[in-house]
Amino acid sequence: MNEARIIDGQAFAAGLRQRIADEVAALKRDHGLKPGLAVVLVGEDPASQVYVRSKGEQTLEAGMHSLTVRLPASTTQDELLKVVGELNADPAIHGLLVQFPVPDHIDPLVIQSAIAPAKDVDGLNPVTIGLLASGQPALAPATPVGCMMLLEDALGDLRGKHAVVIGRSNLVGKPIAQLLLRANCTVTIAHSRTRDLPSVARLGDILVAAVGQPEMVRGDWIKPGAAVIDVGINRVPSRKPELAAQGKTILVGDVRFAEAKTVAGCITPVPRGVGPMTVACLLQNTLTAAKRQAGLPA
Ligand code: NDP
Repeated sequence: MNEARIIDGQAFAAGLRQRIADEVAALKRDHGLKPGLAVVLVGEDPASQVYVRSKGEQTLEAGMHSLTVRLPASTTQDELLKVVGELNADPAIHGLLVQFPVPDHIDPLVIQSAIAPAKDVDGLNPVTIGLLASGQPALAPATPVGCMMLLEDALGDLRGKHAVVIGRSNLVGKPIAQLLLRANCTVTIAHSRTRDLPSVARLGDILVAAVGQPEMVRGDWIKPGAAVIDVGINRVPSRKPELAAQGKTILVGDVRFAEAKTVAGCITPVPRGVGPMTVACLLQNTLTAAKRQAGLPA
C-alpha cells in the first residue's frame, strides 16, 4: 500500500527560526538594525493569551525586539486606534499585529485598515491584500506563507500544477490561492457552495484544506500522489471512549489523515504540520518588513 511522505512542519519551522535568528544577528552586526514585533492583545481570551505569549517568546528567541501591549476588554475602538497609531510611528517596531478576536464593540476591519501596510505582518489590511493580489511586494498572512514554504520544499517548482484550495477566508484560503497563483499554479478555490466538492478536490496535484471541519476531506477526495496541506486545527473528543468520557480531547485536521496518507504523495500531519510554521513565518514577515523599511533587499 502507498504511504505518503510526511511533511514535518515542526522540524522545518525549527530550521526556519534558526535561519531567521542568524539573519537577525547579521542585520544587527552589519546594519545596527534590530527587527521589532509588537503584538496588541485586547481582553483576556485564554487561547489568545497563549498565542500572544508564544509569539513574544519566539520573537525574543530569534534575537528580535518584542513588545506585547495588553489592554483591558473595556478598551474603546478609538483608544485601540490610538495605540495602533503610536506603534505605526514607532521606529523600533517593524511588524505590528492586533490579536483577534477583539471584543464585539471593536470592528476588526477598522483596526486592520489602520495598521500601516509596511508593518502589516498579519497581511489583513485591505491595502496589503490588494498589493498581494496585484503582484506587488506585500506581506502575506503567516500561515499561507508557511504552507508555500512547505510545498516548495516538498515539490520544488510548483509551476503548472493544479492546486485546489478548499476555503476562501481572508486569513487563509484567499491568500494561499494568491501565493499559488504567483507560483504559476492553476488554482481552483472551493468553498461551502461548491458543487460536488470531492470531484473538484480530486483535480488537485496540490490540495490545500483550510475549512475548519474536522476530517472532512476523505481519502477518495485525493488525487493519487497529490501533495496535501492540511491547515485545519480542530479540537475533538478523544478517540478512546474512556478518555472522551473524561472530557479529554485531541487535535485533528480538516483531512482524514489515516485515509489520506494511503493515497497522497506527501501530506502535512496535524499537529506538527502547518501549525508550527505560523509563528515562524510571522517572524519571517517581521524580518522582511524590517529590511524593507531600512531599504535593504528583502
Ligand atoms: P473560516 O471559518 O474563516 O473559513 C472556512 C472556509 O471553509 C470558508 O471559506 C467556508 O466556506 C469553507 N467551508 C466551511 N465548511 C465547508 C464545507 N462543508 N465545504 C466546503 N467549504 C467549507 O476559517 P479559517 O480560514 O480562518 O481557518 C480554516 C481552518 O484553518 C480552521 O480549522 C482553523 O483553525 C485553521 N487555521 C490554522 C492555522 C494554523 O496556524 N495552522 C491558522 C489559521 C487557521 P464559505 O466561505 O462558503 O463559508
